[in-house]
Amino acid sequence: MERVYNFSPGPGVLPEEVLARVREEIPNWHGSGMSVMEMSHRGKAFQSIIEQTEADLRDILGISQDYRILFLQGGGNLQFSMVPLNLLGVKRTADYVDTGYWTARAMDDARQYCRVNVAASSADTGFTSAPAQDQWRLDPRAAYVHYVANDTATGVEFHWTPRCGDVPLVADMSSNILSRPVDVEHFGLIYACAQKNLGIAGLTIVIIRDDLLGRALPITPRMLNYKLHAEKGSMYNTPPTFAIYVAGLVLKWLKNSGGLRAMEQRHAAMSSLVYDFLDSSSLFRNSVQKSDRSRINLPFTLRGPGLEDRFIRHMEERGLVNLHGNLGLGFRASMYNAMPIEGPRRLVEAMREFEKMHG
Ligand code: PMP
Repeated sequence: MERVYNFSPGPGVLPEEVLARVREEIPNWHGSGMSVMEMSHRGKAFQSIIEQTEADLRDILGISQDYRILFLQGGGNLQFSMVPLNLLGVKRTADYVDTGYWTARAMDDARQYCRVNVAASSADTGFTSAPAQDQWRLDPRAAYVHYVANDTATGVEFHWTPRCGDVPLVADMSSNILSRPVDVEHFGLIYACAQKNLGIAGLTIVIIRDDLLGRALPITPRMLNYKLHAEKGSMYNTPPTFAIYVAGLVLKWLKNSGGLRAMEQRHAAMSSLVYDFLDSSSLFRNSVQKSDRSRINLPFTLRGPGLEDRFIRHMEERGLVNLHGNLGLGFRASMYNAMPIEGPRRLVEAMREFEKMHG
């Protein structure tokens, strides 16, 4: 199979073992005589798939029985509304820590339901850092504190877990979930769309502490009510069955590949290869503060003007694809769990070559 090195921010690269397994199982899943795409979501076969997927996610992330895992649709974007609709309760304010593109999207939706207190922001540094906890001005009346654990667009990642006392901490982990161990007990709610580290588009995972269920605003559409989804075991309506099946295969692959510690080491190795090159380069540059650099999404710019198209062509000719930056600005290399280490090695080699030609 001729494969490229896919640096897409999402949907992103999948493990080849998972692709092979899907191909093998498509016509006839485990002797059922049908593919997962054709199964009833209420049948025994699919029930076993969703139960195993949940059990593996619990096991890998160490999620206790105090938390529910919901398999939803609507992407990270729908969580921008579901979080305030479900967590505000009788409160009118929520805290948001602003690290750029994805927080802006989350706040725009939250403002339809509550007052958004920007507790901290890195706007003054051009969103090139994660505001330190001592800069956070939390509102004591806030229903929850929301932050984006890894901003896929700006390439800023929190390498520490915030502490917010009794106020539930909500994290958008869309682009760094399962990339290293995390202490779920510190969070009220974690959400992530699946098309980066968990499989394919169409599925969104929500991990929510039990006591936060049942606070939905009366205007909340039933389909957007976490409690209903929890009560029905994510079967309030037809869940994204195929995406859940693929997530299950990805989780098995992750376990067989050494778990979260191995993923953490893999990301440290991959990202330092690329950052070390960027920091020594006369042509390329990453401007995120070193302590807050994302290990997953690495944005960079070219110093020389007019070379952008040539650079993309140079990379594509070497099988290095999807390096365009967010909204077409600059470049970005996204390296999810399934990226082989050969990917960043080839990337740096090709960038060095380009620098020799144009630097
Ligand atoms: N949050 C973050 C951090 C993301 O990277 C993305 C998608 N790139 C989203 C939310 C939105 O996810 P979706 O496109 O599935 O709605």
